[in-house]
Amino acid sequence: METTPNLDALSREGMLFGIAVVQAPWTKPSVASFFTSTYASTHGCIKEQPGSFLTSSLITIAEVLEAHGYYTLAVNSNPHLKPGTSGWDQGFHLMKHTDTKPGNPERLTDEAIALLRGISALLEKNAEKRFFLYLFYFDPHYPFEPAHKRFTLEDYGPLGGLEGKRRCIVNYDNEIVDTDAAVGRLLAELKELGLYEESLIIVTADHGESLHEHGEANHGLKLYDSTLRIPLIIKGVGQGRVAGQVRAIDVMPTVLDVAGIRPDGALREQMKGISLLPFARKQAERTGLRAISETQMRECNQRCIRTEEYKLMQIFEHGVEHLYDLRADAREEEDLSEEHPELVARMTAELEAWAGSIPQVEPVMEDRQIDEALLEELRAIGYLR
Ligand SMILES: [Zn+2]
Repeated sequence: METTPNLDALSREGMLFGIAVVQAPWTKPSVASFFTSTYASTHGCIKEQPGSFLTSSLITIAEVLEAHGYYTLAVNSNPHLKPGTSGWDQGFHLMKHTDTKPGNPERLTDEAIALLRGISALLEKNAEKRFFLYLFYFDPHYPFEPAHKRFTLEDYGPLGGLEGKRRCIVNYDNEIVDTDAAVGRLLAELKELGLYEESLIIVTADHGESLHEHGEANHGLKLYDSTLRIPLIIKGVGQGRVAGQVRAIDVMPTVLDVAGIRPDGALREQMKGISLLPFARKQAERTGLRAISETQMRECNQRCIRTEEYKLMQIFEHGVEHLYDLRADAREEEDLSEEHPELVARMTAELEAWAGSIPQVEPVMEDRQIDEALLEELRAIGYLR
């Protein structure tokens, strides 16, 4: 099933990262980690309620680029990230918002193209300036309601499972196709405006979807690869593939490295990721990076450490640990924690050392006036249940 012709073409022109892992399996904490190169325990933006805020004491990528003379622009479609809702708007000159309804990728691309046309006129007038454009496409995302039904159940042959699960898979694919087409239209416009060649272009995601794997219909409550692994394509750092593991927190340091911005002391101290440029140059088969992810949605309280070989999951709400051999068991179905107690002990010690090495904050709850319409929007996309 060909779902991503435009993204495939982009990945051939750029660097494709084979294993990219987010630090949280749902939008708000994950985007905060991308934007600050910190873990959820440090940025504290981890609760579903709109008052859960990204603390203003952290420096975001938009703030750094703004301070270095970039026009900083965003078009967002996720209600969690609306201006005034979670604090991620720090550092943006201009932010637009679209909806999450079927067809949102096309509408978001329309807004983005309007902004790009405006910015290219501004850049012609002011050759000193550069731009940072952050686009948050809502699809593909639960609930799976594509605008077009290019694929139907009949196209798939036997998928197994319940009909609800099969429909999820088909509609998820349909949303991917729609989003890929919208991104393709955006890339064509960048070429048309003469902005494509020199731009660093990153395509990634803040989380995956479980599609009923591990008993999870969508995402947020568990730390399996189905929601933690994301696509990552970077055009502008050479061509090829890095097969080794990288993380969401590495994206900000990579952008700053490419832009030639040397982080000052406070920012260097804050950022827990590293630039991926050396791995891109080497086309590294392995990076040796360990990825740590956390979630505290609703009653769940979990964290995990993932190497290129193993994952140790700590499920505090049930007082259990799971160990998976990711090479032999990519679907994470066989818990090996009893077979390998020494490995469990070593990875647990690493997690504890990590927790002791980063600044920890209580979830940051700001007392904001939240309008009922926003709460409705969040419920419509599966939150605040
Ligand atoms: Zn999301």
